[in-house]
Amino acid sequence: MKHELMAGPAAPVVIVGAGHSGVAVAAGLRARGWEGGILLLEAEKGTPYERPPLSKELLKDGAPDESAVLRKEKFYQDKRIDRVAGIAVDSVDRAGRTVLLSDGSRRAYHRLVIATGSRARALTVPGAALPGVQALRTRDDALELKRLLVAGARVAIIGAGYIGLEVAAAAAAKGCEVTVLEFQDRVMSRVTSAPVSRHFEQLHQRHGVRFVFGAAVTDIEGDHRAERVVTADGDVFQADVVLAGIGVIPNQELAAEAGLECRDGILVDGHGVTSDPAIYATGDVTRFTSPIDGASQRLECIQNAQAQADRVAAHITGQPAAVPEIPWFWTVQHGVRLQTAGVRRPDDDVIVRGNPAGGSFSVVYLRDGRVSAVDTIGGLADFRPARKLIARGDRMDPALAADPRVPLTEATLTGAVLNAPAPIHADPATARS
Ligand code: NAP
Repeated sequence: MKHELMAGPAAPVVIVGAGHSGVAVAAGLRARGWEGGILLLEAEKGTPYERPPLSKELLKDGAPDESAVLRKEKFYQDKRIDRVAGIAVDSVDRAGRTVLLSDGSRRAYHRLVIATGSRARALTVPGAALPGVQALRTRDDALELKRLLVAGARVAIIGAGYIGLEVAAAAAAKGCEVTVLEFQDRVMSRVTSAPVSRHFEQLHQRHGVRFVFGAAVTDIEGDHRAERVVTADGDVFQADVVLAGIGVIPNQELAAEAGLECRDGILVDGHGVTSDPAIYATGDVTRFTSPIDGASQRLECIQNAQAQADRVAAHITGQPAAVPEIPWFWTVQHGVRLQTAGVRRPDDDVIVRGNPAGGSFSVVYLRDGRVSAVDTIGGLADFRPARKLIARGDRMDPALAADPRVPLTEATLTGAVLNAPAPIHADPATARS
């Protein structure tokens, strides 16, 4: 308790990062009755914004630039949330419980919350710095991309993940000529199975998007701006715009330099507490033990950003947190929604439920006979039951699960032994508090 005496409880909760999770911690603290100070620090200027619209609505012609704002300014005033925007946090002095800002000022904290998120993985090939080569992570990135995506523009997209495919859909809708270059042999390979990949690949192809799989980009060429993308096979693609959507890297440097335990993400327990009990971390930047299956994971999704933020707010205020939710994810491409409950692993069994050709189907993933994840495409009927089944850990009958006429909750094997719930692995780190 030496720390308590140094900064004193009068210091605010300082939150570093005003993305979805950081803002949710601030809101959650007030919602839970926290009366102390709250200081939200953000390196980017402007009102905090949400990211899902950046690769969807914001790219549409006519969409107002401010359409992605998370909360209006009035919210921060009404809730007495102090904000400093446009100044980075350079370091943390854990012994003195202060943070050093890039303008040279210091701020004391009672509790520190690191919600620094992740950044786009940079393309490192020669020519990657040419004008016309873009990433998409910030609102400024999205506004620049929107300016470049004009009818007739030749757009080369590197990476067929969520970013690459959502931008491919937006660009095709604007009349661009779109080519997607992907390392793997199918789209969204990190997050879904081959039948779903195939469905979305065909959907994009029907909208004129061209795919090149197994493509390793080696160069971007052009005199003053990007003009061509070259691959290891020697193929050359003419391009006016190059978008790299090749994954993200957690912004853990601030925590690592402060000596907090990090391993591809800041390590936190089930309450968001880091290896320093006065410091929390939340959102994309964290790595934690899944309460569902005991796996060590980093989740890049809004649902996790929100749920972890609530657990942090609960712990700071000494209140119980909500039961951990089954994670979920969604994407919309060419108007077709893919919604995923749970976290699939590559070696899970894959059961296709319904006929993909009909446009609406689900894919159920089984691990040791129990549902680990479900993808729903073009319809949401299986989404809610899926989350229930994953949480309950019921064993499934694969033949029944494959029959879309059988409600998913009735596709379980019966019998007390078989229906015994899957073990919920305790997070050893939670024993700390
Ligand atoms: P991502 O989902 O990880 O997909 C990136 C893809 O690019 C992977 O298939 C990757 O293959 C491939 N790749 C990596 N390096 C490459 C290279 N040099 N050349 C060709 N392909 C390459 O990442 P993302 O699409 O960039 O998305 C970034 C973040 O934004 C993620 O956190 C994502 O969840 C989030 N996001 C989410 C949504 C949504 O939920 N709807 C929408 C937009 C963004 P390997 O796997 O082999 O590296």
